[in-house]
Amino acid sequence: MMRYSCTVLSPGQAAGPVHIASSRQAAPALTRVTVEEARDAAATKLAAHSETAKTGGDILLAQKAMLEDPELLARVQALTASGETAQVAIHQACEEYAAVMDAADDPYLKERAADIREVGALWSDALAPVAEAPVSPGAIVVCQTLLVQDMLDWAQVPVAGVIAGQGSPLMHAALIAQNLGIPVVTVQSRDFRDQVREGERVAIDTQAGWFDTEPPASSPGHSASAPARIAHPISLPGGAMIEVRANISSLSEAEKIAATGADGVGLFRTEMLLEQAGRLLSAAEQEEIYREAVQKSGKPVIFRTFDIGADKSLAFLDLPSEPNPALGLRGMRMYREHETLLHDQLTALYRASQAGAISVMFPMVASVEDWDFCRDSAARVSEEVGGGAVALGVMVEVPSVGFLVPELVRHQAAFGSLGTNDLSQYFFASDRESRASHQSGLALVRFIHMIAQEAQASHWPLGVCGQLAADPGWAVLFAAMGIYSLSVPLPAVQPVKELLNRVHDFGDLVDQATQDSGGFARTMSQWAARD
Ligand code: PEP
Ligand code: MG
Repeated sequence: MMRYSCTVLSPGQAAGPVHIASSRQAAPALTRVTVEEARDAAATKLAAHSETAKTGGDILLAQKAMLEDPELLARVQALTASGETAQVAIHQACEEYAAVMDAADDPYLKERAADIREVGALWSDALAPVAEAPVSPGAIVVCQTLLVQDMLDWAQVPVAGVIAGQGSPLMHAALIAQNLGIPVVTVQSRDFRDQVREGERVAIDTQAGWFDTEPPASSPGHSASAPARIAHPISLPGGAMIEVRANISSLSEAEKIAATGADGVGLFRTEMLLEQAGRLLSAAEQEEIYREAVQKSGKPVIFRTFDIGADKSLAFLDLPSEPNPALGLRGMRMYREHETLLHDQLTALYRASQAGAISVMFPMVASVEDWDFCRDSAARVSEEVGGGAVALGVMVEVPSVGFLVPELVRHQAAFGSLGTNDLSQYFFASDRESRASHQSGLALVRFIHMIAQEAQASHWPLGVCGQLAADPGWAVLFAAMGIYSLSVPLPAVQPVKELLNRVHDFGDLVDQATQDSGGFARTMSQWAARD
């Protein structure tokens, strides 16, 4: 038996047979498919299905005729020639086609709008064929690089754990695993990847900080989560209340909200829905998901609009590569060039707001102008769909907006949410995907304290949805600073609630933490020890 020490990206215990995964990034098998080739592939599929279908064969043939409409192809080609990606071009062209049919008086034509959307989805699907060897349930995947799309696929299987060659706990792939309770570790040892064999049994124990090859049969398996104990917001010393919500990115996680005792969803990472689907989703498809998310969670949900870019590049979008993607076209910066993307999503969110309490926040806002753009886009959609009670807020994750709280309040941002994963990355110039990432420290405490004070002076609700909200020292510090809501991975909801419930006096915590590095370190270790 070999024992390797490891770095923890997502905590937990697991044992199972190894599955060695090939990296999608390295896979040369992903040859580009043109829009024309994808259209032909989709048409062949429709023709084949129409022959074998017991009923509805004529509908499939009608869809094939729509797909082969030369005007539709010409529109897609014009859009790609103007710089749109193949996915966006297909989606937009089909939406335009569908909108014409939607507007027709003839009920038959109206119904064809749904067909053209299905055609668009089929065409998009044919753009990005991905070949990956199947993974068995309960396997421990061994890979070099952790990708969001891979983690979403493995979570569906589900795998028992992942051992990667590199990564950090703030990568989105790791955040997904943390939420699902799938242990993920990295191992630096070169020996390991050379020696490990497909099917060999390994065990991971992140608490002990190791994993073993050929463990005894009694190695740890998945531990069941304890039932929720505190299912309400916590009252703090001084009388204020603080909510503990959950960060989620799928409907299956929305179902777990009640069981974890979370006070709502503080961050729904909606771009993960696109990662999962492997294509863009129409407004109608999104509306259905958002409605279900609100109904399943049974609590208020804050949806974050698509935050595409950096480590969520959505392979199927075929976005132009940039030298520094985390500093490039990411989050709301993309909306100006891809208006349909935001328009469809906001339409779906406003429509779904009839099903329950929905708030919407925008990622990567860096200026008042950025905020105005988002707010005005939402206002236009609200008018189009006939209104809806949706509170609009801003993610405070680009340091520049930390200096704009009074302006954001004046410009009708209803709330703010500190995205500390990106805030610390941009504040410390320290890549969140790097092993060397620098997440916390005195300078950040002082900066966040300044933002919290500005928010309190303006009576602006300020929450936290970055990973620091689940850190015991920081959670208490945020509460002492007057933060109204913490949003954490699902497994952290109860531990954070229990911790806050035990606080009877903040004392001079904030003064101590903001004074000097020693005070900050003392504050952190003091609360971590009480965990
Ligand atoms: C953040 O940046 O802190 C955040 C919550 O969003 P994400 O991790 O999805 O970038
Ligand atoms: Mg972020």
